Amino acid sequence: MGPTRENGEVRRRVERILVSACLMGVRCRYDGGDNLTPEVTDAAGSCCLIPVCPEILGGLPTPRTPAEVVGGDGAEVLAGRARVMTQEGRDVTDAFVRGAGEVLRVARVLGVGEAWLKGGSPSCGVSRIYDGTFSRRLRPGAGVTAALLAREGLRLREFA
Ligand code: SF4
Repeated sequence: MGPTRENGEVRRRVERILVSACLMGVRCRYDGGDNLTPEVTDAAGSCCLIPVCPEILGGLPTPRTPAEVVGGDGAEVLAGRARVMTQEGRDVTDAFVRGAGEVLRVARVLGVGEAWLKGGSPSCGVSRIYDGTFSRRLRPGAGVTAALLAREGLRLREFA
């Protein structure tokens, strides 16, 4: 993002980037762990990283029962053609969709144009997610939040 003029002064606006909170070391993963990624936290000196966890923002607790998209990917969940189910068979689609909407709200309020997201997650995965069988198999497709942010024009970067 280029410099802006404010009260006669030229100021460089620091780029704001949404980040899956677990990549920054926040212990918001379903099992109470994190996915701390030094490549992400090292960027904190040069841009403004904004940690978000869509599943927490959607009202789910930590720890929580693992969930996967069943019958499609995140885009199909947003279209009402697929669901997010826990391993125990509980439908948590509403919480996932609500969390995606809250992340988008943060992006809009703060004028964010880019998000760095955790791969594989039914919320944050960008290019691949677990396939809905709870057998650790991946399939192509985005999670619910990634699909919503992509639809709204944000640039997405995925971290394994
Ligand atoms: S929903 Fe996203 S931010 Fe939250 S724990 Fe899962 S991958 Fe990390």
